Amino acid sequence: METNKIGSRGILFNLPSKPFSVQVYCINSPNYLFIIDTGVVLENQMEDVKKYLEENNLLTKPVIIFNTHGHYDHMGGNEIIESKFIIAHHFSFEVFQDTVDLLKQYDAYKSVIEKIVFPNLTFKERLAFVDEGVEFFYSPGHTKDSASCYDSIDKILLIGDILVHPLPSINWPNLDKFIETLESFKKIEFNKMILGHEKVLEDTKFIDETIDYIKRFKELDVDFTGFTDAHALMYRWGLVNIAKNLKKEGKEKEAKKYFLKAKSDIENPIIKPEDERELKGIIAEIENGIK
Ligand SMILES: [Zn+2]
Repeated sequence: METNKIGSRGILFNLPSKPFSVQVYCINSPNYLFIIDTGVVLENQMEDVKKYLEENNLLTKPVIIFNTHGHYDHMGGNEIIESKFIIAHHFSFEVFQDTVDLLKQYDAYKSVIEKIVFPNLTFKERLAFVDEGVEFFYSPGHTKDSASCYDSIDKILLIGDILVHPLPSINWPNLDKFIETLESFKKIEFNKMILGHEKVLEDTKFIDETIDYIKRFKELDVDFTGFTDAHALMYRWGLVNIAKNLKKEGKEKEAKKYFLKAKSDIENPIIKPEDERELKGIIAEIENGIK
């Protein structure tokens, strides 16, 4: 675990995970300790965070947890530190439930499914802790329930998986809303923008690069020049995940377009997964999707 003090009252924890490290952030405000995201189900990152907070006497105020969205690598340790509230967007219930249903399919997760703690305080547009200078707001794109946090004292913006390096994680079919959210981030004055995985950014350059990619992805016109394994991973699963969600919404024709693109692109050595198990898995998803 890597720990970094940020601004006047923030602590950033960078914790190992695969394929990307996980970031948990704490804001030590006058009356509460806010914890943004809680790591991966089964990986216990929050045990290390708890130990650090205990050793540094930071668990003396009531804790408020915020989940940027309901994916299994952002809420896995919601139960580790006792909290007054677990806050997330209004739609997070649905996304948490989808995550639980997905994990249920794997034996490894059977023992922990029951322990997953859902949010107990939700909001639709904004929720501000005025005296603390902390605000949560809806920022859909990566998922329908994605939300962000802004610390107005230190000007820190925490955006979960709205940006992922090197390429965005596309799941939710409303790509126009995704772009709208990214454009809105450019209007926020921030010193640092903290991503849910790996990175801390200080300017808007990567936002523009991501917007360009999403526009090209939407047109199925992505250029693979300079693609690394991480680019290929995000790209192939973007196609499959958006297609699955379109199908779920009853948009069969549009779903098929993305499934077929995935089917042909994984023939390309740049996009094809090297791992045999992943290859089998993605082929099964595609075949299942287009039948
Ligand atoms: Zn996610």
